[in-house]
Amino acid sequence: MADAPSGARLANYTTLRVGGPARRLVVVSSEAELLDCVRDLDAKSEPVLILGGGSNLLVADVGFDGTVVKIETSGVDVQTSSCSGAILSIAAGEDWDSLVVRTIEEEYCGLEAMSGIPGLVGATPMQNVGAYGAEVADSIGTVRTYDRHTRQLRTFAPADCGFSYRSSRFKIELGRYLILSVTFQLRLGSLSAPIRYPELARTLGIEVGRRAPAGEVREAVLGLRRAKGMVLDDQDHDTWSAGSFFTNPILDANQMAALPPDAPKFPLPDGRMKTSAAWLIEQAGFRKGYGDGAAQISSKHTLALTNRGSARAADLVRLAREIRSGVQSAFGLILVPEPVLVGCQL
Ligand SMILES: Cc1cc2nc3c(=O)[nH]c(=O)nc-3n(C[C@H](O)[C@H](O)[C@H](O)COP(=O)(O)OP(=O)(O)OC[C@H]3O[C@@H](n4cnc5c(N)ncnc54)[C@H](O)[C@@H]3O)c2cc1C
Repeated sequence: MADAPSGARLANYTTLRVGGPARRLVVVSSEAELLDCVRDLDAKSEPVLILGGGSNLLVADVGFDGTVVKIETSGVDVQTSSCSGAILSIAAGEDWDSLVVRTIEEEYCGLEAMSGIPGLVGATPMQNVGAYGAEVADSIGTVRTYDRHTRQLRTFAPADCGFSYRSSRFKIELGRYLILSVTFQLRLGSLSAPIRYPELARTLGIEVGRRAPAGEVREAVLGLRRAKGMVLDDQDHDTWSAGSFFTNPILDANQMAALPPDAPKFPLPDGRMKTSAAWLIEQAGFRKGYGDGAAQISSKHTLALTNRGSARAADLVRLAREIRSGVQSAFGLILVPEPVLVGCQL
């Protein structure tokens, strides 16, 4: 376990590049260290913030008055068999996109449509990370955790993870579960999972529901993501974000009927509809590039709020509030932020 210099600014650890100092920041590189560290802090009732890649966090300018535990654990264990496919047990601190690359190289399919998402494996169950018609809930076998309430290790099967669109029990009970490792169960083969997302299918020149070589799916996804500023790039302020800032609203039939007839609708298995937060934001008058200079909507993607270089957390919060209240006035819907807000609120 290593202590970072005291007063480490969290702006240096988050992709939005905002956030004031942590009282203390420790880096843990083994699971034993991670558990010892969190147990010890909990015993002293010290505030703890678990930090992965910092790509889904908006930290206040005052910083975090407690200990930030930065996870750098490592370990990949792969078991394959012709009947159960590949079972990969991955430490929380492993980089997500490197895992995706490895699965494609070793011909385990299922993660390819989630190429290019920043962050670490341990955070993926938190908001049931997903993109282009895939989500980790489709591929997770188990999530191994330390329950900070009961002080016990606890392993969850997918049915007990409470996975839903951009959510899980781990996000709902934020801070309770420390995710130690995640097991993925993947099919053997070089072809992708069936492509569910029309834009991706069009890019690949196939019909929705067909498969394509997983490497080609990755390249197509990365191309689409780059065009939207959704692949991290130090030189491109459109990627100084937390990805999508608002989730797409899930609506019942009455709420959907109250929207204009041309509002996008995507039916969900439970009978409700998902609509597009980006569409609502644009129709409420907030276009790409909207903002005051320091914090702006990305010039490539309406859903990403970005730091143009000098933004503080307060600038991003102000912009997010303005957008949320504009959408509420126009449509009566309250947008929900996707990133975890630390020390600030909308
Ligand atoms: C450019 C860009 C594009 C993105 N695209 C997508 C996308 O397509 N789809 C998508 O779903 N998301 C996307 N995101 C959001 C983000 O990358 C994911 O949510 C990612 O999984 C966050 O991982 P992280 O390691 O950076 O988590 P962090 O930001 O470090 O943490 C996020 C939350 O999880 C908690 N946490 C992290 N690790 C653990 C752990 N091991 N145990 C317990 N709690 C933990 C933290 O305390 C925090 O509350 C994007 C972000 C950016 C910047």
